[in-house]
Amino acid sequence: MKTAAVTKIGNLRDPDISKRGKIELIDFEPHELGDEDVKIKVAYCAICGSDPHTAEGSFGPHVPQPLGHEISGVIEALGKNATKKGFKIGDHVAGNFLQFCGTCYYCQNGQQNFCRSMPRRQNPGMSDHVMWHESQVYKLPDGVSLRQGCILEPLSVAVRAADKVSAKAGQRIAISGGGPIGQLILQVLRLQGATSLTMIEPIAQRRELATKFGAQYVIDPVAQNVEEEAMRITDGFGFDIVCDVSGAPAAVGALPAITAKGGTLLYGAMYPVGYMMPFDLFTYMYRNELTITGLFLSPYTFPRAVQLIPHIDLAPFIEKAFPLDQVAEAFDVHLSGEYLKVLIRCNDLD
Ligand SMILES: [Zn+2]
Ligand SMILES: [Zn+2]
Repeated sequence: MKTAAVTKIGNLRDPDISKRGKIELIDFEPHELGDEDVKIKVAYCAICGSDPHTAEGSFGPHVPQPLGHEISGVIEALGKNATKKGFKIGDHVAGNFLQFCGTCYYCQNGQQNFCRSMPRRQNPGMSDHVMWHESQVYKLPDGVSLRQGCILEPLSVAVRAADKVSAKAGQRIAISGGGPIGQLILQVLRLQGATSLTMIEPIAQRRELATKFGAQYVIDPVAQNVEEEAMRITDGFGFDIVCDVSGAPAAVGALPAITAKGGTLLYGAMYPVGYMMPFDLFTYMYRNELTITGLFLSPYTFPRAVQLIPHIDLAPFIEKAFPLDQVAEAFDVHLSGEYLKVLIRCNDLD
C-alpha cells in the first residue's frame, strides 16, 4: 500500500531548494484488522495547515512521517467486535484520527485530548485504506457527500473552539485568521448567535469569503489599524470574544487590546515553537479581567460536528482535489493559498 509521507525534514518553501522538505509516496505495510477495528476505504483526505509543520519537524525529526488525518471514506470491513455503533459495510464515514484509551486519568477526567496512552499506531489517511478503532469512526449524515465529509475533522476543531469560548447569543465576536479553521469557526459562532461578527484577515479573497459566510465586518490588518477598526465596530467596548487561529506572530499581539473588559481571548492556533509574546498583565489581566484560553485537538466534539455538518457551507472548502499520485503537486497548490483547502482523492468512490 502507498501513503503520502514526509521523507525529508525542511521548510517546504525554503528558497534554497537543497534544504526544502519533501513529501512523496512511500510503501506502507497496512495494519491487520483488529476485532474492534473498522477498515475504511479512503475517499478523500484533505491537506491540513499542520501538514507543512510536520515537514518542518514540529512533530519530531524522524522520517518518513506518514500524513493525513482529515478523511472520509466507505466501510469495507468490520472486526467481529466492532458492533457498538451499528455500522454496516458500505456506510459513508469520517472521524477522529486519534484513538483515546478511555481508561487513563485524563480520559476519565473529561480531558481525552491529553490521553496518556493514545495507541501510537501510525494510521496515515493519505493512502488507500485506514484501519481505525470503532470509537474513532462516525457515520456521515444523509445528504453529506464523501467530498464534504473529509471536512468533519476540521469542523470538530471549530466546535472545540466554540466550546472553549462559551459564546452567549448576542455577544460581539471577532476571528483573527481567515484560513479554513477560521472560516469554520465563523460559521459555527454565527449559528450560535454572534453579533458584530468580524473577520481580521490580510488576504482579500478570504475576507470576501468570510462576508459570504456571514461576517458583518472585515478588517485588513495590513492596510487598517486593527484596534481603531475594532473599537469603531464595537462602540468602543471591544469584542466579548476574540478567537485567534492565524497562528501569526504579527497578528497575535494586537488581540488583547481589542478584547472587551471581562471578555474571552482564545489563542487557538499552532504557534511557532518557542515564540514569546509580550503581554501587559496589569492592563489585561488585572484591570480588564480577561479570560485567556487555548486549544489542543478536539475532544468530545465529533458527535456534535456530525450534527452540524449539514448546516455548514462547505462548497469553497472542496473545490480542488488531486489524485494520490500527485500529492507533491497538491502540496504546492496548498502552499500557494489559492484554494481554501486542497483535497487528495485517494480512491474513486463518488
Ligand atoms: Zn488538521
Ligand atoms: Zn486515555
